[in-house]
Amino acid sequence: MKQLKNNGIARLKLNKVQLKAKHEVDNKIATNQYKFEEICCPICGSENTHYISNKGQFYLPINVVICKQCGLTYLNPRWNKNSYLNFYAQYYDKFYRASHIENNILNVDNKIIKRIPLNYKECAKNILDIGSGKGDNLINFRNSFNKINLFAIETSVQCQKILQNNNIQIISNSVDTNWEENYTNKFDIIIMRHVLEHFMNPISVLSKVRKTLSGNGILYIAVPNNLNPTQKLKQSWFRAVHTFYFNKFVFKNLFDITGFSIIDMKEEKGELYALVQKNIINIPQFSNEHYIIQKNLLENLLKEQSSLIYFIKNWKQILFGILQILGLKPKL
Ligand SMILES: [Zn+2]
Repeated sequence: MKQLKNNGIARLKLNKVQLKAKHEVDNKIATNQYKFEEICCPICGSENTHYISNKGQFYLPINVVICKQCGLTYLNPRWNKNSYLNFYAQYYDKFYRASHIENNILNVDNKIIKRIPLNYKECAKNILDIGSGKGDNLINFRNSFNKINLFAIETSVQCQKILQNNNIQIISNSVDTNWEENYTNKFDIIIMRHVLEHFMNPISVLSKVRKTLSGNGILYIAVPNNLNPTQKLKQSWFRAVHTFYFNKFVFKNLFDITGFSIIDMKEEKGELYALVQKNIINIPQFSNEHYIIQKNLLENLLKEQSSLIYFIKNWKQILFGILQILGLKPKL
């Protein structure tokens, strides 16, 4: 899913559409139309967490915690399923994608194609992109390799129309349906670019992916790297739509319990990506050290970003953001 400009300060400035959406979402939280639910850590099952922040992007109230047993950062309590469904249906595009969808130009960034080894691409017949947006990744594959069938799972109705116009088969509008039942061992390449961090249950989704991946197939999975946040934490990195925040230690545990082996895993700037294949399910080795590394990193960043020096450097933008949230229309 496309992100806004990679600049924590710039994200304080909401456009009119975002501001209206924010007021509506705030109201739904205040009037209990959006309900919160508590979960235990989906990776290790522990309920023992360390509290990190109660603020996130667009000044929406969220609860960021770290699991003390395995080091997974996640939202808890978080909005329940119906609240998220309502948010994605009514507000997600307003906050994140309005200009992106209107702009119907193909993004020719072939980063994903370059990262997948040639032997997987050459013999691939069927490719699935989960959370495909308007299908840029898939179309890039078709432009580079002949005789490839393209499949997508995509929620946005606007994006679905563009996918259909480009002869991409939509197999479901959500990962939460039973789409996997009709596609056992079907896909040679599955792409999950910046979607796993949005899901309610990443274990369940990866189990479906494992079932539908072919014997020698490969899964490409990329997420924001929580060991290298590239935006200000409270203003942008932490956000209601990111229910989970992964790192390389958590990824290893996640792939062990869902039955994947890692072919390649790299950290590049603020992104973590992995190429994995089907494997047997393994029992992960949880380490308190992974929790400590993640906790120290986030707490040091929060301290730095709330310091007086940081405020002096950025006072104009901070004041501007506050006035906007209050419904005033300042000019910077
Ligand atoms: Zn855990």
